[in-house]
Amino acid sequence: MLDFNKPCHIGKEEDAVREAIMNQKLSGNGPFSDECTNWLETYLNCHRAILTPSCTAALEMTALLTEAGPGDDIVMPSYTFVTTANAFVLRGASIRFADVDPATMNLSPEAVEQAITPETKVIVVVHYAGISSDMDAIMEIARHYRLWVVEDAAQALTSTYKGKALGTIGHMGTFSFHETKNITCGEGGALIVNDSSLAERAEILQEKGTDRKQFARGMVDKYTWRDVGSSFLLSELNAAYLSVQLEHAGAIMTDRMRTWQAYNQALKTIPDLTLPAVPEACEHNAHMFYIKTERRSELQTHLKNQGITAATHYVPLHTSPAGRRFGEFAGTDNYTTAESDKLLRLPLYHGMNEKDVDHVISHVKGFFTV
Ligand SMILES: *Cc1c(COP(=O)(O)O)cnc(C)c1O
Repeated sequence: MLDFNKPCHIGKEEDAVREAIMNQKLSGNGPFSDECTNWLETYLNCHRAILTPSCTAALEMTALLTEAGPGDDIVMPSYTFVTTANAFVLRGASIRFADVDPATMNLSPEAVEQAITPETKVIVVVHYAGISSDMDAIMEIARHYRLWVVEDAAQALTSTYKGKALGTIGHMGTFSFHETKNITCGEGGALIVNDSSLAERAEILQEKGTDRKQFARGMVDKYTWRDVGSSFLLSELNAAYLSVQLEHAGAIMTDRMRTWQAYNQALKTIPDLTLPAVPEACEHNAHMFYIKTERRSELQTHLKNQGITAATHYVPLHTSPAGRRFGEFAGTDNYTTAESDKLLRLPLYHGMNEKDVDHVISHVKGFFTV
């Protein structure tokens, strides 16, 4: 069976993890965490990066930092992972799901504008497949209505919009280092704080509501409970693993792009298939290669019979029991459900060999030519 995903493994992670063990510093915010946050702040060119146990945890921090709560509306796509919504539902806010642009499966700015109510506090954009949402239009709407913008950039590390790193355009951004993402440490994430007024509070939230980070920098002589917070820290064992992959980020993305381009070249001539659109302003990180077809389940079964795992993706949140309970679709669902029903993801991982890529291509082609 040809796997859909294999977690990225460079081969030098073991040495870094061993070093973390030898350092006898295993909890968060140690030297390997510093290495990772320095990499993120330098490479992405952002104000502050904070490592978290997951992208989910980073999203929960954004909900705390925007002070979203009962009576507030949060606008986001229905076509996303559950935790984009859950982070805000945990704080008692309601979700208004807005429709997507079928070309990218990202929020449609027109649908966002229609979804806004006087209670709206935050827009959460999701950069699906590592391809940017229309950030100029979204930021313009947010300025006009004075809303926070959070970028769920879980899939989008190193992707850009008009040359700017995704995750650094809104007030905050979040990344995931889950094993299904381009760069991984098993479970892990990061919060990117672009609005400097939020940075100090973000550090306090991460350290259980204390000013321990300032204490560690020698800025206060003892640390105390200052605010609400939780344990939003990544273990040094994970940070050590992650530091190696971040160091190799360029090579990892290049390798994935080879596979992405091979699929794109080979499949773009099939008339019954829609391939991902990459708008001109966007450079992406080859996180995902998906195709859209009316014959999705037939194709998925055909590939499975050839030993190839292809995966569908999100069931629109507004159609799920919790989605109905905690939110509602704003306006008409023109594209979210219809387009998600057609979408099928092909295997794509670091180190995928050409023979396997060709195997997938030939069976997708074979399905459409018989
Ligand atoms: C993967 C993913 C998440 C969750 O990331 P975790 O690190 O597993 O918490 C959230 N949002 C999107 C869009 C994702 O793709």
